[in-house]
Amino acid sequence: MINDIDMDLNRLLAEINSCIDCKECNEICDTYRVTNDELKSPNGRLKIAEKVFSNIQITEEQRIGLYTCTLCGLCDLTCQQEIRISEIIHSSKVRLVKEDKAPLEIHNKIIRGIIEKDNSVGGNPEERLNWLPESYKTKELFEKKDSDTLLFLGCMSSFRVTESALAPYEILKLADFDFKILEREPCCGEYVYSAGNLDIAKKIFQENIELFKTLGVKNLIVTCGGCLYAFDKIYRKYFKDFNIKVRHIIEVIYELEEINKITLKPLNKRITYHDACRIGRKYKSGPLYSEPRKLLDKCGIEVKELSKNPEECPCCGAGSGIRGVDSSICIKIGKELFSNVESKEIVTSCPLCVFNFRYVNYKNQMDKESKYITDYILDSMKK
Ligand code: SF4
Ligand code: SF4
Repeated sequence: MINDIDMDLNRLLAEINSCIDCKECNEICDTYRVTNDELKSPNGRLKIAEKVFSNIQITEEQRIGLYTCTLCGLCDLTCQQEIRISEIIHSSKVRLVKEDKAPLEIHNKIIRGIIEKDNSVGGNPEERLNWLPESYKTKELFEKKDSDTLLFLGCMSSFRVTESALAPYEILKLADFDFKILEREPCCGEYVYSAGNLDIAKKIFQENIELFKTLGVKNLIVTCGGCLYAFDKIYRKYFKDFNIKVRHIIEVIYELEEINKITLKPLNKRITYHDACRIGRKYKSGPLYSEPRKLLDKCGIEVKELSKNPEECPCCGAGSGIRGVDSSICIKIGKELFSNVESKEIVTSCPLCVFNFRYVNYKNQMDKESKYITDYILDSMKK
């Protein structure tokens, strides 16, 4: 549950002070495990947050401590005092930004990119639809199409893991599903929110809500965990009248398969499935644990599990843009995660995780392959 905890200082400080220093949260935190640095642990970050909310100056190392948190939410599962650790860490970033002491320059650079180019990955807006084959492009009406369902692809799918744009698009077309895509799609704003810049994030949210209203959008389908979490949780927190139905592409494909609009044939493969934090643990959706697995099973794929799947599945290592802050943490988290993957292929339903796993694989010179789930579904449909 998300609350405006940054608005109630006394309650917030009381919550922080209810910590009994048992440090059980540290045991589960990936950034602490790979660094052994108290400033990069949940308990350590809570103490930094206490300083922030008490108007005590923090050091640069402490600021980095806050900004190397992936906001994965794992620590929140362990705290017997029920302290909302990751929310407090996020709120302390918001406070620092309000005081003009954050975010870091890398965040400001990416936020400027989002404002100028409508995406968080530095992509050229003119190239946003490069993934869309000419045969589709010539028939596509984009914004002009009279459909109340928008397939919102997000920055990662549009520019970096483009098969996670193409395969969902093709699957919906093959199923004769009514939807539209945008020629000029904005960023959802999750990156800006995670960096703590609430004013700019809320402005982006407001502009997107206006755009969806203008286009008559009543249903959003997303491919990315960040977009899902942003639209379905964060937007609703700040805009009570935001009543658009938000679903992940897997939920839509699952429904289409149930009503026989999609037929899946066996691929006979073995993969390991990774539950992205913003689709699973932070989103708190049972169906998004079970439906990807059921679909993979129907594709004739044997799914191996990571030892802590689904709810305690480790973060891919890239949440909240920590790669730009300290890439070594992200590489170490990914390496540790890969060491528990028996199969060659690791599959997820979030393009940011796919992108990061590929980076980690390259940096660690490993031999794993990372794929977005719809690759298999499309292959199985076309078989
Ligand atoms: S688990 Fe909770 S009580 Fe224990 S150290 Fe962490 S925040 Fe404090
Ligand atoms: S949210 Fe994740 S990275 Fe941040 S302190 Fe908690 S467990 Fe560690």
